Amino acid sequence: MVQLDERLESILAEVIRRNAGESEFHQAVREVLESLGRVVAKRPDFAEGALIERICEPERQIIFRVPWVDDQNQVRINRGFRVQFNSALGPYKGGLRFHPSVNVGIIKFLGFEQTFKNALTGMPIGGGKGGSDFDPKGRSEGEIMRFCQSFMTELYRHIGEYTDVPAGDIGVGGREIGFMFGQYKRLTNRYEAGVLTGKALFYGGSRARTEATGYGNTYFVQSMLGTKGTSFEGKKVVVSGSGNVAIYSHEKVTSFGGKVVAMSDSSGYIVDENGIDLKLIKEIKEVRRARISEYLRIKGEGKGIYFVKAGEGSIWDVPCDVAMPSATQNELTGKDAKTLVKNGVQAVGEGANMPSTPEAIRIFQEAGVLFAPGKAANAGGVATSALEMQQNASRDSWSFAQTEARLAAIMASIHDNCAATADEYGAPGDYVLGANIAGFVRVAESMRALGVI
Ligand code: GLU
Repeated sequence: MVQLDERLESILAEVIRRNAGESEFHQAVREVLESLGRVVAKRPDFAEGALIERICEPERQIIFRVPWVDDQNQVRINRGFRVQFNSALGPYKGGLRFHPSVNVGIIKFLGFEQTFKNALTGMPIGGGKGGSDFDPKGRSEGEIMRFCQSFMTELYRHIGEYTDVPAGDIGVGGREIGFMFGQYKRLTNRYEAGVLTGKALFYGGSRARTEATGYGNTYFVQSMLGTKGTSFEGKKVVVSGSGNVAIYSHEKVTSFGGKVVAMSDSSGYIVDENGIDLKLIKEIKEVRRARISEYLRIKGEGKGIYFVKAGEGSIWDVPCDVAMPSATQNELTGKDAKTLVKNGVQAVGEGANMPSTPEAIRIFQEAGVLFAPGKAANAGGVATSALEMQQNASRDSWSFAQTEARLAAIMASIHDNCAATADEYGAPGDYVLGANIAGFVRVAESMRALGVI
């Protein structure tokens, strides 16, 4: 752990005291404060006006009851959240996560990360995050719809195209966004397309939004590899997860000449030495909504294909040149990082939010592994959400090629901005520092301009 200077240490102590027990939020704040030591040394004006303290305190936190009726006619209760973290750069923007692990600390860490990520995109979007401890696993379509409608029946009063624009995250995809948009439309009697992003194409969605996070992470890693004169061509890649981010990382990595040999879900991971068959993964995950072990059942034993149950091994034991953790927070531990380094990993691109533990990041950086933090590498998703808002505002619909070209340009500029900022602050190649500082400076400058509000 980096020793913080006295001032930053006391800011962190206060964050921990006021947000007791919210370990993921403490972790996310500590990482940013570790980078800010160099900022306050060079630009002491950023430590004035309680700017840093204000940035660590969400502007608004909403917690609400979500009652719904299951298929057995039983009344169920979940908890809903929306943390509107920072609106200095634009309306709050960030996804909704439906997962049983969700609590206020997790939503706060995600909202905090989102604020810096959104700043890095260069688009006019503030940071927020929300969700529920609802578990969509095994729920019927009717149950999902009733839950989404009930969730929106409270959330609608807090959002709007100029106020707060939610989207998807874990457990929330196109289907859920559709149900929530429908309920918002009914409650408000307004066809306000820009209130949610991640919509389907036929009612105001953007082409390339589904692919954007995975494609964007792949573009970012390709740029990092480029700084060392190499590329994805011929590289072995492990992508954890098998949701939206993982699937479209696989697609782009493959188009760049890399080979994805392992993917996972919460039940375990599959390895296919010949390269994971993406068509089959899409069928299992997007159509059947089944477990990843189906892959082995369909393909059959042997032929370099095997499945390892969760808890009986780590996907990071699979040797690779590039690791793209795209499942969830803290999924890649210090032990995993050691294994990856021992196996010769050259680059890591975080497709998920904060998937590597602080110890894992330290191990990668000390070993000279190129490391792309999520708030930079996975920003392509939210950047394309901002492009969706732009299309909605102008009642336009862009082609896939045009939208992907914008995404690629945004990712290249995030990469270059992080690298240049790391250079400027005396830590060449440190993308964590570069991302934290570049994101912070944009938000802080804007907050200062807007006065104490
Ligand atoms: N949930 C995604 C993220 O972590 C996307 C958010 C959005 O598109 O607003 O950035």
